[in-house]
Amino acid sequence: PQSVAIIGAGVAGIATAVRLAVQGHRVTVFEAQESFGGKMHQLELPGGYRFDGGPSLFTLPHLVDELFQLAGRNPHDYFRYHRLDPITQYFFADGTRLTAWADEERFAREVEEKLQVPVAEVLAFLRRSGRAYEATAGTFLQKSLHKAGTYLSPDVLKALAALPQLGLTSTMHQRHAAAFQDPRLVQLFDRFATYNGSDPYQAPATLSMIPHLEHGLGAYYPEGGIYAIAQSLVRLAEELGVEFRYREPVLEILTAGKRVSGLKTSLGTYDFGLVVSNMDVVPTYRRLLPHQPAPERTLSQPRSSSALIFYWGIGQRFPELGVHNIFFSQDYRREFEAIFREKTIADDPTVYVNITSGHTPTDAPPGHENWFVMVNVPHDQGQDWPTLIKRTRAAVLARVSQALGTDVASLIRAEQVWDPPGIEARTSSFGGALYGSSSNNTLAAFLRHPNFSGQLPGLYFCGGSVHPGGGIPLCLLSARIVSDLLKN
Ligand code: FAD
Repeated sequence: PQSVAIIGAGVAGIATAVRLAVQGHRVTVFEAQESFGGKMHQLELPGGYRFDGGPSLFTLPHLVDELFQLAGRNPHDYFRYHRLDPITQYFFADGTRLTAWADEERFAREVEEKLQVPVAEVLAFLRRSGRAYEATAGTFLQKSLHKAGTYLSPDVLKALAALPQLGLTSTMHQRHAAAFQDPRLVQLFDRFATYNGSDPYQAPATLSMIPHLEHGLGAYYPEGGIYAIAQSLVRLAEELGVEFRYREPVLEILTAGKRVSGLKTSLGTYDFGLVVSNMDVVPTYRRLLPHQPAPERTLSQPRSSSALIFYWGIGQRFPELGVHNIFFSQDYRREFEAIFREKTIADDPTVYVNITSGHTPTDAPPGHENWFVMVNVPHDQGQDWPTLIKRTRAAVLARVSQALGTDVASLIRAEQVWDPPGIEARTSSFGGALYGSSSNNTLAAFLRHPNFSGQLPGLYFCGGSVHPGGGIPLCLLSARIVSDLLKN
């Protein structure tokens, strides 16, 4: 057993702490903020509204269960969830409404009825997405891509061989446009590029496997909301003896000779032979390792998108809305050009509204709802955010008011905003990007930073800015890879 320090109590840092404690290590987590969760935090607004601050969609729940099982616990004693059905309510710009049911055949029948696309075409697409996921996900997401041994295993060779036919030369949008003539269905599937902060008009067609996560494997709702994931894992970690030190930012990773020797924090210095950084990899190098050579090529990969979020306490209930609601823009291509090429927000952005009070009634007073209203935006590059926020707020209100036939502005009882500079300030994510680097190019999977340092023995990395990528499931997998590396 060794003493391990983890920098940051984001979901990946907490999951790494659990795994390393189970392996018998003494684990200390240093967290800059007053509490755990990072992007996965919660907030409350006056009037009795609770919100999940960041992530809202939850897939692959067994990756959370697995942590409790590893520690010999029954997951249901800590954390419960149920499969969402329906998954999403879609509102298209032309007024068409469509419900994404959990059952693939029921969803396909809904698409046929509302968009006149034959059931068989929809099912064929979903099954192809499923096969692509099965062929590659195990490999690219669950192993370190940066250890030679990975490339000796048969399943890895099989997955690499499958890549070209999964579409390395075409984009996600081209794949969807070839599969469907109806532009609304193309837009619906293109949206899945945003699940890792990418642009469907640039990202490779391999990402067309993402819909399988939701439509094939299921979207889930944790009892009490997404924050329950962080809460229950911290409870488990503390039971396993992990020490959490809040309000103690790490200022420097110390080295002796050519290896990691400890940490300097706001409160003192500590000896540690093993350090895992859950801080975004860019500031980990720039701020905590100023004297070490940084992997410039990796760090300069284009960032993923960020988000602009309005948390609104709404003084009315909308039975036509569910947990996940999408109000699509008229011109999707324009929207991504604005984000990724012009570094701004389109005049008519797609709006995502997450409402948890229907499933967790204590999240809003009776007769009210808690609206988490999000627009995809570029990461912070010094834009004039106050002006963009004002303009976007008006566009969002116009869009949802038109779709719902109600003046939503007059229903707002409480409000808070989170923008890219705010996301960076709270979590240290470079530019406030939600998912580290984007997947807008074919080699993105290989250009993410590995889960270990090639230069400094004893230094490891977990979290959304390193391999295998951002989002809750991938963050949990990064924790698994780090703990596997430490077993060797
Ligand atoms: P983070 O959450 O980034 O946490 C890092 C932690 O490290 C923070 O607590 C920070 O304070 C701490 N820290 C940083 N530097 C230091 C330091 N020097 N010393 C001490 N502590 C430090 N994912 C999904 O799966 N589904 C979604 O629907 C989804 N939607 C999202 C919506 C929004 C608005 C956002 C912001 C994110 C969303 N994501 C979603 C992405 C998901 O939230 C992230 O990928 C994931 O939570 C990142 O976890 P992490 O472990 O990488 O670290």
